[in-house]
Amino acid sequence: MENRTELSALGEFGLIRRIQENTNLKNAETIKGIGDDAAVLSTAGQELLISTDLLIEGIHFDLSYAPLRHLGYKAIAVNVSDIAAMNGIPKQVTVSLGLSNRFSVEAIDELYEGIQVACENYKVDLVGGDTSASRSGLVISVTVTGLAAKDEIVYRNTAKPNDIICVTGDLGAAFMGLQALEREKQVYLANPDMKPELEEKDYVVLRQLKPEARMDMIHELKEAGVIPTSMIDISDGLASEILHLCRQSGTGANLFEDKIPIDDQTYLVATELNFSPLTAALNGGEDYELLFTIRQDDYEKIKHITDITTIGYMTADPATVQMVMKSGTAVAVTSPGFEHF
Ligand code: ADP
Ligand code: MG
Repeated sequence: MENRTELSALGEFGLIRRIQENTNLKNAETIKGIGDDAAVLSTAGQELLISTDLLIEGIHFDLSYAPLRHLGYKAIAVNVSDIAAMNGIPKQVTVSLGLSNRFSVEAIDELYEGIQVACENYKVDLVGGDTSASRSGLVISVTVTGLAAKDEIVYRNTAKPNDIICVTGDLGAAFMGLQALEREKQVYLANPDMKPELEEKDYVVLRQLKPEARMDMIHELKEAGVIPTSMIDISDGLASEILHLCRQSGTGANLFEDKIPIDDQTYLVATELNFSPLTAALNGGEDYELLFTIRQDDYEKIKHITDITTIGYMTADPATVQMVMKSGTAVAVTSPGFEHF
């Protein structure tokens, strides 16, 4: 048995002090972090970006296969991804928790280890939060702030016809990771003596449990001197996100099936579990890659960046968002809608 310290032994203030002691501030824009009635932040003359995400046990994560350390990391990463998608630099986060007495102090320590590692990686400061009892499992709400110069912010509604559509990394892996984990869970529930078979699925499983925000790509684009004409992060699948860009920009799009980046392991796992890899890329979620458009003139500046793939171009007809298949036929891109409801 592992050590188990009840949360009640520490109390809310003890828990907050424990979190505060493990927090170090990195950014000059953070004037005051945890410990007062409000954090004090400087915008250093730039525009302030702010975004929030809510993660609820049983809806957004399943603790039977999501380690708390990874969950903490993911909660920060998905928020940082929203700042990346605005072409901003993340600076601070707040983390609010709803906790049931099912959780021990050691479990919360694990969650915060993941949070702290993500804060180090993305160079953000944990500056506050709130802590409450919960009757319905674990609730994690993260708010992230970021900064960007006014003329560097990238919106969803500013793509133009003929802009080149680009995507970072590869797509569909996080969805196939989720399917693999769900299947192992069912196998385990049916027979707890079965050893999980996830070794050859390590990449897709990690993409699901511990996604990365592509801040590295934001820095690459800045170094290349390119400001995208529109951008969004891929949380709900390529189909849904390209439709957002097109709808808001008043454009159409031509995508090419043979250009969609899909990892070999995603192909293998999809084939094994009877999914179409292309459907995983289009309608699966949680890849947290960036989908963006650039002016044709800027293509030369980014073509050396290996983790960026051009997958199509924007068109003038907002009624036609389509994918040209390998066979040559074009099919309309549609969104599957809101899975969570
Ligand atoms: P208040 O009563 O004003 O809400 P709290 O006692 O809840 O104050 O919080 C005290 C300090 O600890 C504040 O700076 C708050 O932002 C911070 N804090 C509270 N809960 C958390 C948490 N889960 N993670 C990080 N900081 C927290
Ligand atoms: Mg409070």
